[in-house]
Amino acid sequence: MGSSVQAFCPCGLETEIMIGGGMMDHETNCLFPCCCEKCHSLVEANILVKKLRCPKCRSTKIIPYSDPRLASEPVGCVVESWFDLTLTDGAYKCPECEMPTLRFGLGSSLWD
Ligand SMILES: [Zn+2]
Ligand SMILES: [Zn+2]
Repeated sequence: MGSSVQAFCPCGLETEIMIGGGMMDHETNCLFPCCCEKCHSLVEANILVKKLRCPKCRSTKIIPYSDPRLASEPVGCVVESWFDLTLTDGAYKCPECEMPTLRFGLGSSLWD
C-alpha cells in the first residue's frame, strides 16, 4: 500500500512522487523519492534493490531523500515515513536548481 507526497521548489519544480509498494510486491518494491545527480531530476526509485538506478537516465548517481546529505534543516515534522525512511517538512536540496529550497507535502491522494 503506497501513498504519495508532493514536492515543490520555488524554481518551478512541482511533482508528485509515489511512496511505498503495492499489496503484492511490498517486500521487493518500495518506491521513495530520490535525487538524480546525473539528469538533475526528482525521481521515484525502488530503494529495496541493491543498486539504485535513476528510472530516467539509468545513472547510479541517485540519492534517496532519506539521506541526511540532502536535508538542509535536520529537524522537521515528519510528512511521510516508510520503514526507517522518513521525509520531513524541512527543506531539501532541489535536484534542478541545487538550492536547499525543495519541500515535501502530503500528496493529493491523501486529501480525499
Ligand atoms: Zn537521472
Ligand atoms: Zn529547485
